[in-house]
Amino acid sequence: MPKAATPEQRDAQRRIVSIITTNRVINRGGLALWRDDDSLTKEFYGNADADDVAAALETLGVRSTIVTRYMPPRAQEKRPRKGREVRIAWPELATLVHWMPSLKERMEELPEDANTHFEFLYFEPRPEGIALCPAAHASLWPWWTEKQARRMGLMCADCGCDLRPSDQTAYRITDTEGRRRLYCGTCCSDGVDALAALTGQSG
Ligand SMILES: [Zn+2]
Repeated sequence: MPKAATPEQRDAQRRIVSIITTNRVINRGGLALWRDDDSLTKEFYGNADADDVAAALETLGVRSTIVTRYMPPRAQEKRPRKGREVRIAWPELATLVHWMPSLKERMEELPEDANTHFEFLYFEPRPEGIALCPAAHASLWPWWTEKQARRMGLMCADCGCDLRPSDQTAYRITDTEGRRRLYCGTCCSDGVDALAALTGQSG
């Protein structure tokens, strides 16, 4: 704890430590925190949204960025939930540890081969070649149930295999109805046919 914390800093610390404890994803890329974008959640329940969290972090001298990300729909919902994720890069976590000493332990517990980023990455055949792209899934994607992953398109659209394990590659292919869906490499021949179709070359 830095000496002479201001009342504003103490207040910011109180507000965000519990949010971070219960919501955070941490890996070797840093820390990510998804917040619902539903204004009702903020207005009615008084929950802190991404802007509130980022402002509190700034008060504590911790830099963060905000990205739009999606979570699986809840039981009765049809569409993914839109929200924003506050992200703190790994080097900034040293400052956050001053205010939240328990975080140090979480950082030390991380396996050597922990991810260094939060994104679900997929390949996409494009006219200029095959590009590696980040999906807009919230950083909690590795912990979603199979049902949630399926609803978020993280199962192969053909064979249904889970595309999340690190030995799986995913390709986003536009099908004949114009939908862009994810396939495993086996089911789309590693995007070769789709690439050939786009560039007008045959096999
Ligand atoms: Zn497949």
